[in-house]
Amino acid sequence: MTSRPYQLNQLIALAQDEANRFRLNHPQSARLAEQAKQHLYGGVPMHWMADWSTPFPLFVQAAKGACFSDVDGHRYADFCLGDTGSMFGHSPAPVAQVIAEQAAHGYTTMLPSEDAIAVSQQLSERFGLAFWQIATTATDANRWALRWARAVTKRKVIVVFDGCYHGTVDETMVRLHNGKTVHRKGLKGQALDLTQYMRVVEFNDLDALQAALQNHDVAAVLCEPVMTNIGMVLPEAGFHAELRRLTRAYGTLLILDETHTISTGYGGYTQAFGLEPDLFVLGKPIAGGLPCSVLGMSAEVAQSMQQLNTSNNPNDHDGHGHSGMGTTLSANMFTMRAMRANLEQVMTRAAYQDMIPKAEYLAQGLRAMLAQHQLAWCITQIGARVEFQFSATPPRTGHAAELAFDDELEQCIHLYLLNRGIMITPFHNMMLVCPATQVTDIDQLIQTLAAFIQALY
Ligand code: PMP
Repeated sequence: MTSRPYQLNQLIALAQDEANRFRLNHPQSARLAEQAKQHLYGGVPMHWMADWSTPFPLFVQAAKGACFSDVDGHRYADFCLGDTGSMFGHSPAPVAQVIAEQAAHGYTTMLPSEDAIAVSQQLSERFGLAFWQIATTATDANRWALRWARAVTKRKVIVVFDGCYHGTVDETMVRLHNGKTVHRKGLKGQALDLTQYMRVVEFNDLDALQAALQNHDVAAVLCEPVMTNIGMVLPEAGFHAELRRLTRAYGTLLILDETHTISTGYGGYTQAFGLEPDLFVLGKPIAGGLPCSVLGMSAEVAQSMQQLNTSNNPNDHDGHGHSGMGTTLSANMFTMRAMRANLEQVMTRAAYQDMIPKAEYLAQGLRAMLAQHQLAWCITQIGARVEFQFSATPPRTGHAAELAFDDELEQCIHLYLLNRGIMITPFHNMMLVCPATQVTDIDQLIQTLAAFIQALY
């Protein structure tokens, strides 16, 4: 079975038809999109919201469970789920309830609330790390992870894998090009030379990893257990064991960013595969979709952090508490209450037991459909997360995953699905299944993708 090429002019014609169909069926979104241009830069509140497959932004009306509706009254089966922010469904009832209750009792005071204790106990029990800090986005938690890693190891270099995404953490905006660490294309306004203290290696390339670590100058390796932001790249057998062995051997900390791989199961990929990170980051769905993230640390790392905080070196303190980490609204009492309800009642083992078989059903259904159409796209699944990539075999590096991209094809598929009431995650081909996802919607997704394939090939 080979990946069959399509006629480019046929794709262009199909994309035009779909854009016209979208325009015709979304007069209210069109009207709002025009209005938004007056004072929102680019006509959207965040510039990347203009990068979806639609000819103008789709304005949402409301979202609940596995669905959302737009301002033109269309209903969508949502397989994007806020790119993981809502991976347990939109507005889960227990979170909605405590938000309503807390609404009249204060949002933010810069002081801890009792919920913080319950949350930390939940997190330790679930993910195995001894201590926790709360931040506002996964980006921030990753930033603080890098800072602490550098502070406690007294080293400056960080290693990441090519094609990684860990949020808008400056240092991670680097790629591997002809064996060299370079700035990412498209990076805006970066005055600092990020390559000075960053080293990029290919995922699954253990020789390159060892070479990057062997100078004993690397503070931390920051990675997702499975790469999920350049399509999906799975770790090869033995990769994680060797990553851990090498990082320990060279005195380098291991930071696992589980923001997306939390789809794996109740304790994330870390618990499912017995990984032993020194620092652990998770954001997006942790407070039911409200801005919140967590940073876990082992007892050893926490001890080193404490030593720094109590050191006698005057350079370690300026007397005004500026550690370079913070943000005023982090760990506010409102979000902590939502996170507690979410951890205790939404992100449960039962939820995963419901989601994962449905994702399995989606993955199997897609494989069968693609085989029927003799189309060699690969399907990868990490718990509740499924991805299709335009490559016959699952890519083993970020570079290979990037080569499998076909932006025009991808945009056309996304718009075709959207025009038929199905949304998948933009910028790659990722689908999430939540407890409220209906099997009929999964069937509809597979059939609609099959119809697209028939229309193009
Ligand atoms: N880590 C990973 C693995 C991510 O995929 C993302 C966002 N896609 C982030 C961190 C950053 O999350 P946020 O944009 O919420 O800060």
